[in-house]
Amino acid sequence: MNSWTLLAEHPAYFTALAAVLGLLFGSFINVVVYRLPIMLERQWQREAQEVLGLPTIEHERFDLCLPASRCPHCGHTIRAWENIPVLSYLALRGRCSACKQPISARYPLVELACALLSVAVAWHSGPGMAAMALLLFTWSLLALSLIDHDQQLLPDVLVLPMLWLGLIVNAFDTVVPLAHAIWGAVAGYLSLWAVYWVFKLITGKEGMGYGDFKLLALIGAWGGWQVVPLTLMLSSVVGAVVGVCLLRLRKHSVGTAIPFGPYLAIAGWIAVLWGDEIYASYLQLLGY
Ligand SMILES: [Zn+2]
Repeated sequence: MNSWTLLAEHPAYFTALAAVLGLLFGSFINVVVYRLPIMLERQWQREAQEVLGLPTIEHERFDLCLPASRCPHCGHTIRAWENIPVLSYLALRGRCSACKQPISARYPLVELACALLSVAVAWHSGPGMAAMALLLFTWSLLALSLIDHDQQLLPDVLVLPMLWLGLIVNAFDTVVPLAHAIWGAVAGYLSLWAVYWVFKLITGKEGMGYGDFKLLALIGAWGGWQVVPLTLMLSSVVGAVVGVCLLRLRKHSVGTAIPFGPYLAIAGWIAVLWGDEIYASYLQLLGY
């Protein structure tokens, strides 16, 4: 019996596997979210200095692998046992083992959220290639949402490979047929591009960034053209609800730039996984 058959016969094993993978990738996502923007900023700085003919400043090596993670307060190098998702945070009671300064609760929360989202994917799709592909889709959306939330940036180095991967995955009809995926990418990009230009021509302001168009193209490439209108609708609902809450809490004033990427990502994730069910219950509601 090969491992796929084993997982197919015992879906609980597959869900458990997804939970563990989710924890591990959640931990990796924490690294990517923190380091990738710094890596990009250094790269842009270097390029700008070269173009301007300025002397370039050499930094020590800084990428997703090196240097090893350190405590931001005391520089203590985090050991392997202190780096186990969620468990280490609990064992350390949320404090650095060397200086006892608090560790941000966001790290274990991201790991936990990633595990829960992965379990949802495993539960929704069942064991198979579609679930494995949708796990990658889920993890990249989580990373992109956090980076956009922190930096108002949706890095091409993450968005574009995931867009292509969505098309490649669907070349084998894994999530949706290839034709749906291609039109999904096209519709995703063009719909927000059109909104952007109409808004800009009328108000003279830029309502969103090109990163948002590419993110919706990514979502369309994974879920097909059918998810594009649903994603737009759901993201405006989520965005409006969160926006009103933030205004009420006076954390933002009207006109403050709120990154749209996280809303698109949340809406797109729901639409790709549960779009058919949502459309079906909507039609039922209309009496069809
Ligand atoms: Zn410390």
